[in-house]
Amino acid sequence: RERLLVGRRQAVLGPAYRLFYERPLHIVRGEGVWLYDAEGTAYLDAYNNVASLGHCHPRVVEAVARQAAELATHTRYLHDGVLELAERLLATLPEAIGHVMFTCTGSEANDLALRLAFAATGGTGVIVTENAYHGVTLAVAALSPSLGPGVPLGAHVRTVPAPDAARQADAGFAAAVAAAAADLQRHGIRPAALIVDTVFSSDGVFTDPPDFLAPAAEAIRAAGGLFIADEVQPGFGRTGEAMWGFLRHGVVPDMISMGKPMGNGYPVAALALRPELVEGFGARARYFNTFGGNAVAAAAALAVLEVIEAERVQANALTVGARLREDLRALAARFPRLGAVRGAGLFIGIDVEHPDSRAPDPVAAGRIVNGLREARVLISATGPLGHVLKIRPPLVFSEAHAALFLERIESVLVATG
Ligand code: PMP
Repeated sequence: RERLLVGRRQAVLGPAYRLFYERPLHIVRGEGVWLYDAEGTAYLDAYNNVASLGHCHPRVVEAVARQAAELATHTRYLHDGVLELAERLLATLPEAIGHVMFTCTGSEANDLALRLAFAATGGTGVIVTENAYHGVTLAVAALSPSLGPGVPLGAHVRTVPAPDAARQADAGFAAAVAAAAADLQRHGIRPAALIVDTVFSSDGVFTDPPDFLAPAAEAIRAAGGLFIADEVQPGFGRTGEAMWGFLRHGVVPDMISMGKPMGNGYPVAALALRPELVEGFGARARYFNTFGGNAVAAAAALAVLEVIEAERVQANALTVGARLREDLRALAARFPRLGAVRGAGLFIGIDVEHPDSRAPDPVAAGRIVNGLREARVLISATGPLGHVLKIRPPLVFSEAHAALFLERIESVLVATG
């Protein structure tokens, strides 16, 4: 049946989209941390950071359904839902961040950030990490090296190594940013921005030490550019300690993009920024996004903010995540295929390596990911070579779920050798 669907999908959607797993899943229902396939088999979701509060959280479902039944249209009328959402979001952000502009996807939020950064600085140079992903529009795809050689980086883009503490001192990151900015200037390109995912997910999950970002932000500002925090992955409590990944680093970005878990499955995203950066923009140019901040999206995102607080999901992510990392380190000590375990809250990366040479082993990582899928646990792999296991369950993952996860990954490690 899956094979039939894969063929049908290929026939109508074409070859550009990829599915997870050697045996793709046909998921028909989700509830809490569980996903169910067409046969009713339950899969433990240890990957999904869209349904971050658990699949089909009743409060979000109810808010979306209620609003969809009342009004669902474009965004050219006054509506209070979006204002309440903006006020609530801004209350979670540093004081200097005074405006929020709504989009439908993280890509659009980053695209807008770029456009505003170009306008505010008069520059066009952008610095990103070596395996960054910032989205699919042509502008942000040109600063997403993880998309591979099929999407060439712009001539105005420079890359810096991700802050891998095992390979370089933390000061190295800011120094690399300063050098990249100087290289842009040498080529007659004015630096406009440093844009980073503050947990460096596609680079391989680098969350620590939690203070290396501030000097990097200083370095880009000294060169006349802005610091943009891409919070699409770490935002909304994922890191446990804080609502936003950049808060762990004690740095205030000029702009902050957010999306993914913002609507717990409903598409809603945004760019929050220092008000000065958009002043005058309205006179020179306009921005309109038909569905950005529409009433249903606002209802979903408001419900998400309420649930994060009411159910203390951040505290859960912090304690369950810390314990899980500890247990995974104990597992890594017994299975030499596993290397360093990194992360914050419920965002965890584990290196998979050749047991003798300690070289990255993406093939073994793939075997573990697919083995877990057969054991009905869902994770993925990331990093420049695809050798980093990415474990990122819904924030309502309990100690019992973590114990089940450990039991299954251990049996897969035993079976895959
Ligand atoms: N930035 C980061 C760090 C992301 O991980 C993603 C999505 N994977 C995006 C931006 C783009 O978001 P979207 O797919 O909603 O456009």
